Amino acid sequence: MSTTDQNKKESRPFLGVRFDCCNAYVRIYRNKDGTAYEGRCPKCLRPLSIPIGPGGSSNRFFTAS
Ligand SMILES: [Zn+2]
Repeated sequence: MSTTDQNKKESRPFLGVRFDCCNAYVRIYRNKDGTAYEGRCPKCLRPLSIPIGPGGSSNRFFTAS
């Protein structure tokens, strides 16, 4: 059995974000350039962009206040 093929498949990274404006929790996904995580509040549609710093952030959860 080979497991190397499955490891090559790119899964799309995401962050969990809580929007304080509407008290809603969503996942936002990395943009195609890999420079930021981008998404919006599911209720008021406020856009949110979290830049990906050098080395990446180890913080997987954010609050948008
Ligand atoms: Zn909102």
